[in-house]
Amino acid sequence: MRSVVTGGAGFLGSHLCDRLLSEKHEVVCIDNLITGDTANIAHLIGNPKFSFIQHDVTNYIYIDGSVDFIFHFASPASPIDYLKLPIQTLKVGSLGTHKALGLAKAKKARFFIASTSEVYGDPLVHPQEESYWGNVNPVGPRGVYDEAKRFSEAMTMAYHRYHGIDTRIVRIFNTYGERMRLNDGRAIPAFMSQAIRNEDLTVFGDGSQTRSVCYVSDLIDGIYKLMISAYDMPMNIGNPEEVTILELAKEILRLTGSRSKIIFQDLPEDDPKVRQPDITKAREILGWMPIITREEGLARTYKYFLKKMQNQQPG
Ligand code: UDP
Repeated sequence: MRSVVTGGAGFLGSHLCDRLLSEKHEVVCIDNLITGDTANIAHLIGNPKFSFIQHDVTNYIYIDGSVDFIFHFASPASPIDYLKLPIQTLKVGSLGTHKALGLAKAKKARFFIASTSEVYGDPLVHPQEESYWGNVNPVGPRGVYDEAKRFSEAMTMAYHRYHGIDTRIVRIFNTYGERMRLNDGRAIPAFMSQAIRNEDLTVFGDGSQTRSVCYVSDLIDGIYKLMISAYDMPMNIGNPEEVTILELAKEILRLTGSRSKIIFQDLPEDDPKVRQPDITKAREILGWMPIITREEGLARTYKYFLKKMQNQQPG
């Protein structure tokens, strides 16, 4: 089996490369490194089954030889990244998806798109099941990501229906774990790095908004199971255990034993008030559900961030 992973040097993409290699795939990783980092794949360099191409997939993608699976994971994915890179975010979700689908058609490969819970926007249905069409503000600051991903789902279904391409769509809910960037602005890396530095934890709004966070190994397992299943409609993968952001900040304070305080800052525009996946489909069709508790996952992630920060500040 030979797989192509776009965004393969990113947080999720690099964990996916690891999993595919462990399943005996040959892996071609493509990344333009605007938010990805070669440090995430450094341990794979020299593996004869792994290769890396630095390339922007909004341009034509050339791959020699046969390909069985294409995973399109390239995209800025944290709110501060896509606010900083709005055009690139729209381009990789639209033009990048088109190029990756073109490659799938040429190679007769199965195509797998990394979509997102953001297609549900600030949801009016809770928890979110796949049949919900969402509540997205197309012209708000988050619209660049949400609409790019909604377009990528539509394009995937068009190639599926019109060209008969074998496709899979995963809607990924908030995920955390090793290889997240300390400064990617998301709640868990932000709170952990603040706690380690004994700085105040910045909770946005009153912290009553909820998220449901999934540890990365669980998420990748769901993705792998979806890829080998026969199911070709969108599927939620995430951990349904819901928590308020204020509670999450308190959990991180307890875990780290930090002296930091919690301070409240303005809630960003269009910040979703709730988010929780309905994973009935994943349970019934894939036999998948998350197994790592938040306590365990946060402890592992903390260990990673602590080491990373110590390496950044020698002595
Ligand atoms: N958040 C926060 N403080 C931070 C970073 C994020 O309170 O330093 C909040 C953010 O407003 C949102 C939630 O935590 O309500 C999750 O944010 P994140 O960026 O992790 O992901 P999102 O689910 O919003 O894409």
